[in-house]
Amino acid sequence: MASLHPRTQLSKESVFAHMSRLATQYGAINLGQGFPSNPPPTFLLEAARRAIGAVDQYTPPIGLPRLREAIAEDLGVAPEDVVITAGGTEALQVLAESLYGPGDEVVMLEPYFDVYIPQARIAGAEPVMVPMRLTDRWEVDLPALERAITVRTQALLLTNPYNPTGSVFSRAEAEHIVALARKHDLWIISDEVYDELYFAEPPLSFRKMAPERVFTVGSAGKRLEATGWRIGWIVTPPGLAPQIAGMRQWNSFCSAAPLQAAVAEALPMARKEGFYPHLRESYKQRKNLLEQGLQAMGLKTFAPAGTYFLTAILPELEAETLVREAGVAAIPGSAFYIQNPAPKGLFRFAFCKTAQEIEQALNRLQAYLKQRAYG
Ligand code: GLN
Repeated sequence: MASLHPRTQLSKESVFAHMSRLATQYGAINLGQGFPSNPPPTFLLEAARRAIGAVDQYTPPIGLPRLREAIAEDLGVAPEDVVITAGGTEALQVLAESLYGPGDEVVMLEPYFDVYIPQARIAGAEPVMVPMRLTDRWEVDLPALERAITVRTQALLLTNPYNPTGSVFSRAEAEHIVALARKHDLWIISDEVYDELYFAEPPLSFRKMAPERVFTVGSAGKRLEATGWRIGWIVTPPGLAPQIAGMRQWNSFCSAAPLQAAVAEALPMARKEGFYPHLRESYKQRKNLLEQGLQAMGLKTFAPAGTYFLTAILPELEAETLVREAGVAAIPGSAFYIQNPAPKGLFRFAFCKTAQEIEQALNRLQAYLKQRAYG
C-alpha cells in the first residue's frame, strides 16, 4: 500500500494553531498565537481595495518591481537585493532550501520559533540548539554558541528582536556573532520580522555589519498588522537575489499581486505618517498593562525589549489546564524547546490584543489563581 513519506511526521499541528483552536473551543481569551486584535491601518486597506481589479496577474517570482523598490528605500538597500515572499515563513523556507542540505548543521538558539526546526529538517539538515541563559533576563551564551559550531555548520539562524523571549541583541553580542560567522565562514539568517517593534534602542542590523554573508527576513504582516496577507521579503547579500527568487518560484511562484501593490504604497506612507512610533507607543502601554498585572499577582516576568511577546513564570500550571479552567490561552514554554529542558513554568503571552482583552485575561487569571490557592 502506498504511504506518505516519513517526512510527514513533521506535519503535526503547530502549538500556535493548537492553542488558538483550544481558545475558540473553550471561549478563552487568546494571548497565545501572535496576531493583532486591531485591524490594519486604513491607508493599507484602502490601497488594497484600489489594487484589486488593477494588479491581478502573476508578478515576477522575485516580486513586483515597485514593492522591491519601496522595501529597498525603507531599509536603505539596493532594490536588486530584495526578493518578495509569501510571508516571513516562506522566506525562511526558501533560505533553508537554498543554504543547506543533508549532512549540514544549522545553529540556532533555544527557546526557538517553531518553524525553524521543521524547515531545517525538510531541507535535510540538522538543527543544533544553543540554550539561552535565563537569570533575571534572557542572555545569549556566546561561548556555548561558539562550541556548537562544527565543520558541518552552514548557518546561524537568529531572530532580532527575538521571539519568544522579546530580547534584542546588544552591540557586543551582535559583533561577537558576526565575528564568529566570519571566522567559521558561515551564513547568518537574521529573522527581523519585528524590526519596528522595540521599546528602547532600535535593534541593530546584522546586514549592515556583514552584508556579504547576511540574509535578512522581513514581514509586511508584522509591520502593518496584517499577518494573514502573507507578504514578506528577503534582503540577500549582493548578487544572490536571482538565485533565491529562482528557488522561490517552485513554491508559491509569486505573492498575491494586489497585496504586493498595496504594501508598496503603504510602506512609504507608514514612514511618512509616523505609523511605527505610534504602534510602538500603543504596544508599550499594552506590554506595561500585562507586565504589571502579572507582577501584581506575584508572578515573575522577563521584560521584553521588543516584539509583542512577554515571557513569565507561572509555577505548576499547564497551558491546557489554563485555557480550559481559567479561560486564558498562552503558549507553554516547553513548545519552544526540543534539545534542552525548558525553564519550569515558563509561558509566553502575546500582548498584540486589545487592552480590554488583556485586562479581562488578567482578571480571569487572578480569579483562577485565587480559587486554586483557597479552593
Ligand atoms: N509569529 C506568531 C507567533 O509567534 C505566529 C506563529 C504562527 O502561527 N506561525 O505566535
